[in-house]
Amino acid sequence: MAKNAVQIDETAGIRTRAVRGGTSPDPTTGAVLTPIFQTTTYAQEEVGKHKGHAYSRVSNPTVSALEARLGALENAPPAVCFATGLAAETALFLTLLVSGDHVVLSRVLYGGTVRLFQQILSKYGITASFVDTTDPGQVREAITARTRLVFIETPGNPTLELADIRAIAAIARERNIPLAVDNTFLTAALQQPLELGADICVYSTTKHIEGHNSTVGGAIVTRDEGLLDRLRFTRKSTGAIQSPLNAFLTLQGIKTLPLRLKQHSQSALTVARWLRQHPQVERVHYPGLTDFAQRDIADRQHLGGDGGIVSFEVVGGYDAALVLLRSLQLATLAENVGAVETLVTHSASMTHADVPREQRLEAGVTDGLIRLSVGLEDVGDIIADLEQALAAAAGNVAAQVETQEEEVAQWAGVN
Ligand code: PLP
Repeated sequence: MAKNAVQIDETAGIRTRAVRGGTSPDPTTGAVLTPIFQTTTYAQEEVGKHKGHAYSRVSNPTVSALEARLGALENAPPAVCFATGLAAETALFLTLLVSGDHVVLSRVLYGGTVRLFQQILSKYGITASFVDTTDPGQVREAITARTRLVFIETPGNPTLELADIRAIAAIARERNIPLAVDNTFLTAALQQPLELGADICVYSTTKHIEGHNSTVGGAIVTRDEGLLDRLRFTRKSTGAIQSPLNAFLTLQGIKTLPLRLKQHSQSALTVARWLRQHPQVERVHYPGLTDFAQRDIADRQHLGGDGGIVSFEVVGGYDAALVLLRSLQLATLAENVGAVETLVTHSASMTHADVPREQRLEAGVTDGLIRLSVGLEDVGDIIADLEQALAAAAGNVAAQVETQEEEVAQWAGVN
C-alpha cells in the first residue's frame, strides 16, 4: 500500500467513507486526489503483462477509484460504473435477461426505465409487469415461472411512493429471483438496500451522487462478485464505461454527499410543509410529511432524512402548472434532480413523456404534477420564489408576498 494510504473499513462512518473510502494518495506522486487518467491505453511490459489496466473501454484508474468509493459506501466490493444511469440499467438487463424472460417492476418509475422495457427490450422478447410495489403482495402475484428479476424504485420518480425493501426482498428470495433497487433518489447516505436484503443497487450518479449538475454517470453496486464480473464483461462488450473526467468530478461530489443530503432533506421538508398549507396547492407528495401514505416505511427504511425531492399539484391543473413553471425565477426548469441548484420539472411532458398516458396516470403522474428538486439555496428564497409563482398561477400576480425568515421558521417546526 502507498505511504499515507488510509485504511477505511466498514466500521467507519458514512461521512468518513464518503471522503476517504476506497482511495489512497497517488502512489507515484503523492497527489491527494486520484488524478484524471486521461488515456486510451497503457504500456504493457510484455505480451499479457500490464499493471492492471489495458484499455480504457475496459477499465481506467480514475473510474476504478470511483468504483472503490461507491462500493465502500455500502460495504460492498468496487462498483461497476457506466456512462449514464440508463447505461447501467441496460447493462444489468443485458447481463441478467434473455429472450422470453420477464421482469416485475414498480409502477412508479423513472420514465426512461419504462421506455427501455417497452420500446427496446420488448423487441428482444423480454416482458415486463409494472405493479404497485407499495403492496408487496402485488409483487408476489406478478411473479411468473419466467420472472428473472424484480426491479423497484423507492422513492419512486416522481410521486415518491415507497416500497418496503425488506418485505419484497423476502418474496424475491423465496423464488430465487434477484431484487434490484434503483436507489438514485436517496443514495447510500439515506438508504442502504443491500443491508435490507436487496441484491443489487442501481444508480444514476448524475443526480445526488455527483450532485453539481456537471456530469452524467451510472453505477451498479452488489456484493455478488460473480455478477460484478459479468457486468464488467457486458460493459466492455457494449462500450458503456464512464469517462475519467466524469469519474473524477463524481469522486469530488461524493465527499459531501451525506452532508448535502441532510440539508436537501431538511429544506425539502420545510418546503413540503409550506406547500401543503398553501391554498393554491392541491396535493403534496413528500415521504417526510407525517400523513404521507407510506410514512411507516420511511421510518423503518430511511436513515435520518427523506431526500430532496418533493412533488405537488397546483389548483387549476395543467394550465396553472404551466404558468407556475413559467413564473419561477430562482428554480430552474430543467430535467434533473439532486443537484445543488433547485430544479423544477413537468414530469408528464419531460421525464415521463414516453410513458403511455394511461400508464402514466395510473402511476399518479398527472398532467399538473410538478417535481421539485430542492437545492441548497436558502430555503426562504426557494419558498419566496414558489410563493410568487403560485400567485401568478392563481392569476393573482399582485398578491406576490415576500416570504419572511420568521414565516419559514414557523413552517420548519410544524408536522
Ligand atoms: N433512475 C432514476 C430514478 C432517474 O431519475 C434517472 C434519470 O433521470 C435514471 C435512473 C437514469 O439516469 P441517467 O439520466 O443518468 O441515464
